[in-house]
Order: sequence, then structure tokens, then C-alpha cells
Amino acid sequence: MGFTEIADRVWVDRQDRLDLNIVLIAGERGLVLVDTTGSGAEARALREAVRRISRAPLLAVVNTHDHWDHVWGNGVLAAEATHVISHEQAKVPATVKFSSARALDVGDRMLELVHPGRGHTAGDLVIRVPDADVVVAGDLVEESGPPAYGPDSFPLEWATSLDVVLSLLTRGSTVVPGHGDRVDRDFVEEQRAHIGVVAETIRDLAGRGVAAPEALAAASWPFPADALTDAVARGYAALPRGSLRLPLLGTN
Ligand SMILES: [Zn+2]
Repeated sequence: MGFTEIADRVWVDRQDRLDLNIVLIAGERGLVLVDTTGSGAEARALREAVRRISRAPLLAVVNTHDHWDHVWGNGVLAAEATHVISHEQAKVPATVKFSSARALDVGDRMLELVHPGRGHTAGDLVIRVPDADVVVAGDLVEESGPPAYGPDSFPLEWATSLDVVLSLLTRGSTVVPGHGDRVDRDFVEEQRAHIGVVAETIRDLAGRGVAAPEALAAASWPFPADALTDAVARGYAALPRGSLRLPLLGTN
């Protein structure tokens, strides 16, 4: 464990547990830490790792979303930070919340915080470091496994949110996912396509009268079916009533 510099003054600490990525960004005025691990012990080790990189003031802790593995270290790290920043829909105690976009001035560089829409959660945000062409994507992008569709996900909206993320990327961008190895624009494009197929398949099955409990077995999916239980439940629940059909009655 420890930070690796992946671009000019942008470091990633890839944690042993869950392959979680913590990102540290430095500017002339100080540091910004993105996510804080899932425990106090990990956060204390993270704090030491940060201080091995720099003694500069911690201007902000930014939480990509409100899942425990990204925010439970806040208690340790927020104490040192001037601000804790999250999206307004994230259930995280924060001193700064925003709805669509916010700039963060760290001195000689400007960071962009963007809520591209709902997907992995209601309160996802991504952080762009424009001068380094790096985007920290949180769990909107997943490398270590299939995208994590949980009971608080928005399967029908996720793909269009990734379109906004894609609009922030160049061919040469480095994207840091919430978990796993760094990826590029092509990877995000492919994952967006697969996430779009999940949404279209849900719409199609519901439109043909396939009930939610039968949906996983009734189609082929771009991800393993056992990773899509919540996707189907949440997708069906989000469909407008008019798009749900009753199963056709058999003729006699
Ligand atoms: Zn998550």
C-alpha cells in the first residue's frame, strides 16, 4: 500500500481491501484527498501515507459517493481537512454540498467536480484534473469487477450519466475507477455501452410482459446475471407504468 504518482501531482493509493482507489491531488495551496477508505485503521494508515507525500494543508476531502468503503475513514481524515465536499444527494456529513458542478481552486490548478447524473448512486460525483487529463470516476466506472448495481443504483440512468463523463474525456485521458486498475476512454465507452444494454434489455423485457423475477433468465446480459439482481429490481421499479405490460394470456 502507498501512493503512486500517475500524473503531475496526482497520486493513487490502491488499497489491499476491495482494490479501492484513493486519490491525492496537490496544488500550490495544498492537498485534496478523494475518498477515505472503509475503516478508521485504514484511514490512519492513509493519513500517514498522505504525510509521506506532503505536509501541505489538506484543503478538502471529496467523497465520490456515500458508500461505506469510500467514506468510513472520513472521521479520521475530515478532522484535518478544511472542507468535506460531496454531492447534495450523498448521505455524508459535508461542509460543502453542490448539485451539478463546482470548481475547486488549489492554487496553480483548478479542479472540476461534476455530478454527471445518477447511476451507481443518487449522489455520484467525478473529479477532473484538466491540466493532467485525469478523471477520478468513483464507482460510476468499475475495473475490478462488473459495475456494482446495488439497491440504491439507477440502472436506467447510469448510461446517460456516463455520456457526461465521456464528454470530459480525451483520447489520452487517464480514468481512475473506484476499484481496480486505471483505464482509458475506450474502456469507459465499452462499459457505458454494456450498461446501456442492461437498461434497454430491462425496458424490452418489461414491454414484452416478462415479469421482473423472470427477467434475468429471459435474456442474455452483458454482465453475469448474479451481479444484476438489483439492476433488474431497480430498473423495473423505475419504469413508467405505461411501459409495463401484463403477460399475454395463452389462447385456448
Ligand atoms: Zn460504491
